[in-house]
Amino acid sequence: MSDVPADLPTRPDAAPEGAAPADLLAGAKGRMKELAVRYARTLPGLDTHGLMHGLDGVQLTFMPMGDRDGAFDPEHNVILINSRVRPERQRFTLAHEISHALLLGDDDLLSDLHDSFEGDRLEQVIETLCNVGAAALLMPEELLSDLLARFGPTGRALGELARRADVSASTALYALAERTPAPVLYAVCALTRADDEPHAAPASPAGTPKILTVRVAGGAPGVKYSLRPGTPIPDDHPVAVALDTRLPISQASYVPFRSGRRMPAQVDAFPDRQRVLVSFLLPDRPGPT
Ligand SMILES: [Zn+2]
Repeated sequence: MSDVPADLPTRPDAAPEGAAPADLLAGAKGRMKELAVRYARTLPGLDTHGLMHGLDGVQLTFMPMGDRDGAFDPEHNVILINSRVRPERQRFTLAHEISHALLLGDDDLLSDLHDSFEGDRLEQVIETLCNVGAAALLMPEELLSDLLARFGPTGRALGELARRADVSASTALYALAERTPAPVLYAVCALTRADDEPHAAPASPAGTPKILTVRVAGGAPGVKYSLRPGTPIPDDHPVAVALDTRLPISQASYVPFRSGRRMPAQVDAFPDRQRVLVSFLLPDRPGPT
């Protein structure tokens, strides 16, 4: 069971596999989201105990689980969470396992899935749906639209979403990107040890060479560009300046593609501890130069 938030292929333009299965999957995602939203409405809160509130008789157990993030055992009515992974990941896993329980409780959706998919593909679809359910549980629609209304599609909105929903920046990024109508590319950038980089930056005072790179990136629906993880951020780019100064920056700049190509963009860089949450607002019709 892969419970990795990065599994969230929720962008409608991602990997079309022929119209019919894609439509089926899109429909199933919508129904899963509805299940999660309906469940969330009954909860007293979205903390650990609040999240469990609607699952009558299901026991929650935290324990070391090696490589696994968690599991739902319907026979014994137990949700297991790996206690050795970081808290925000445990939280996403809990929401994912609750989604397994919700899905098992929906005979219609379950039988439609079994009619449409089989074998490994069925397992894969179920895992994807449970990630969709988890995201919907932890990041309610109202929170997303509120943040977008207040802060616009910015690095700041991304930071606020991660903090308020208590999810990882990458989980927040996929959810925010999906809800963003403007042509925006989001990224989470952080210092990375330069050991494996051929052109390492000068050593930091502590002696460990570190360079600022993209950790994860993703665009709003229809945005065809992305930044690969590991793409370095130039020292004079606003993202690097925001990290140095610890001050949010919003200015006309560019997307620093790995190829060296610079696409003009309005950059909003929001420093948050050792990382910078970034939005690149692209021109309406970026030329394919
Ligand atoms: Zn799972």
